[in-house]
Amino acid sequence: MSEYDAMWEKLGIDLEAHAGLLEVLPPMYQEHILSQENRPEGMGYFDFVFSEVHGLRVKELVEHREAGGVVVGTFCTYVPEELIVAVGGICVGLCAGAQVAPEEAEKLLPRNLCALIKSSLGFKLAKVCPYIESCDLLVGETTCDGKKKYFEVLGELQPVHVMEVPQMKLEHDRELWRQEIRRLLARLEEEAGRKVTLEGLREAVRLINDKRKALLRLEELRKSDPPVISGRDALLVAQIAFYDDPARLTEKVNALCDELERRRDGGIAIGGAHRPRILLSGCPMALPNWKVATIIETSGAVVAMDEMCTGIRYFDNLVDEEAPDMDALLDAIADRYLNIHCAIFTPNRERVDHLKELVRDYDIDAVVYYALQFCDPYTVEAFGVQRELEELGVPFLYLETDYSAEDVGQLSTRVQALIEMTGSREKA
Ligand code: SF4
Ligand code: SF4
Repeated sequence: MSEYDAMWEKLGIDLEAHAGLLEVLPPMYQEHILSQENRPEGMGYFDFVFSEVHGLRVKELVEHREAGGVVVGTFCTYVPEELIVAVGGICVGLCAGAQVAPEEAEKLLPRNLCALIKSSLGFKLAKVCPYIESCDLLVGETTCDGKKKYFEVLGELQPVHVMEVPQMKLEHDRELWRQEIRRLLARLEEEAGRKVTLEGLREAVRLINDKRKALLRLEELRKSDPPVISGRDALLVAQIAFYDDPARLTEKVNALCDELERRRDGGIAIGGAHRPRILLSGCPMALPNWKVATIIETSGAVVAMDEMCTGIRYFDNLVDEEAPDMDALLDAIADRYLNIHCAIFTPNRERVDHLKELVRDYDIDAVVYYALQFCDPYTVEAFGVQRELEELGVPFLYLETDYSAEDVGQLSTRVQALIEMTGSREKA
């Protein structure tokens, strides 16, 4: 029995299946996160949030709805959080990072779809996600084909608004996207029963920009060598940022950064001397997906940067807060989001250029490219990324995987070989 059983039951959660899920999370957390040595004290807040993953935060969502607010679920970094906040809503990221009820999901979706999409439907069908059950509205997007078609399936189970994300970045694509931002705002206003004012929207922009600034500050600290924070802890912070209260999250990330600055200045690293510095690139690693990061870091390296949507793509670039009127502010929001370089775009030169910049700025020794099986955009784009990085002399390892643990041994062997290679080469 949990103190939250009554709340979960009211949300329509299957208590028995849910109890099973909650049983596997603590040992996983112990293995991937708590087993690390010399973690910063500031990570204590994030450990607490995770320990209450389906408890306290869900209770806040329930209370918010009881007070007349709306909760909106999203699946992609293209969905502007500030619009949801501006209508007095709470935004929760719903990307799913664990295999749940795959047999059920495969009754409605083909087997050869990426683990992230199947996991998302698995959570819904098994009735084990209190976040999705707390949502008044889900916002999907036309990014990859799998997601686009998935939202039709999901739309039969719960209200879904789908944003049309263009596939190119030409002027008329930008125009379409700016209109899509306004169409979403209208839908959110209808859902929340209130109109957004210029001041309200500006305040929301500031709130989310502050969250981005704090997360970017943390990224800067990942440049420290020897490292002052592990890649797994940085990943955990980003994963939690998708669903925690933005103001509180900002405060806690800034407090963590204060501590990390003291550590850096005092020469306190997470584990002694220099370690090979790995950049992880590719598909998002939604909570609780730490598999590849753990493999890298238990093989003697550190993940010093994540070029993924659970990393810098989520919080890079700010919205211009000074835009003079409503139209200009909405355009500024649209432009900031169109500047995310997901592999669904073509051509996608900006992503490769950004990756090269990150390799240089974060003093990266090797790139590990994480692709979920059946993810066409990221698997296809990997070839060009590999060619360009290898031309620069940057070692590159392509890992195609899913959410199961079956391939951990094989992936570890390949990661260890990569790390050994970084030790025996001159950096490019
Ligand atoms: S990888 Fe692309 S589709 Fe997936 S969350 Fe990121 S931006 Fe959205
Ligand atoms: S990982 Fe790839 S296939 Fe899966 S939802 Fe994201 S873009 Fe689509």
